[in-house]
Amino acid sequence: MKKLLLCGISAVMAAGVVMTTGGSTAVAQQQFVTIGTGGITGVYYAVGGAICRLVNASRQEHGIRCSVESTGGSVFNTNTIRAGELDLGMAQSDVQYNAFTGEGQFADAEPFDNLRAVFSVHPEPFTLVARKEVGAESFDDLKGKRVNVGNPGSGTRASMDMLLAAKGWTLDDFSLAAELKADEHGPALCDNKIDAFFYAVGHPSANIQDPTTACGAQLVPLTGPAVDELLDAHPYYAAVTIPGGMYSNNPDPTETYGVLATLVASTDTPPDVVYTIVKAVFENFDEFKGLHPAFTNLDPKDMIANGLSAPLHEGAERYYREKGWM
Ligand code: GLU
Repeated sequence: MKKLLLCGISAVMAAGVVMTTGGSTAVAQQQFVTIGTGGITGVYYAVGGAICRLVNASRQEHGIRCSVESTGGSVFNTNTIRAGELDLGMAQSDVQYNAFTGEGQFADAEPFDNLRAVFSVHPEPFTLVARKEVGAESFDDLKGKRVNVGNPGSGTRASMDMLLAAKGWTLDDFSLAAELKADEHGPALCDNKIDAFFYAVGHPSANIQDPTTACGAQLVPLTGPAVDELLDAHPYYAAVTIPGGMYSNNPDPTETYGVLATLVASTDTPPDVVYTIVKAVFENFDEFKGLHPAFTNLDPKDMIANGLSAPLHEGAERYYREKGWM
């Protein structure tokens, strides 16, 4: 069975990633680059912050000023890159695949032929979190419950829709299908506004840490025949285990499945910009890995090969070839 490796590190979160805002160093021809991420409590925002921090540290050499934007997530980022309003963005590997091929949530659009992959980052297990009072042991225990299915535009929601379809369920199988943003689902759970939420996110994540600590929220396994079918049918899904003890009040491992987080751009994103970005990340890779605990197990070999269904961006490929990585 395909298996994603998730690091077994403790729930202690690294210090927040600080965006470099910098002074106004005079640089000939400043170029502004924006990376679309996700909610500020998720991991995409930290990835964008880490990348921009490293790019901005050498701004005097290349003149690129990198900034991150908090967004609704993968589908929003992909569509906004396509519209030419974002240079780069984070996208789940399933969303990257579907956007490039024009399938799934992109079935009504033309395939996004100009989508380009830059690299993949951390695994994103689909994470089902329920109020402890619900006592849920599986997805089926959420029938008739109030469940946050993810905001439109999130990769989370796109993946939830695929899971519902595989199970033969619809949103009507829940008494409430809430569409809160990821930054809102933890507080809503602890305030008893919802019984559970579903979130495709890297671990450990502050977003999951908060409700497990604040109200003893429980991680629920996502396994069974429907999940097995999804794993068999789609190359971008893999089984993954969230280690026990990663979160407060959750001592046991949680079996689930998931995708990889990826950084994407388009053929309109200038090759020099993408080259500069990948160079900043890989030349300072130890520093990059230290910027969020979800990055601990990253390996450049995997990052330039796994989870990428769109062709590599020209600027990224140039750097990987120079390094002899391909
Ligand atoms: N995978 C999520 C999505 O695309 C975002 C996760 C994050 O922000 O870290 O909706």
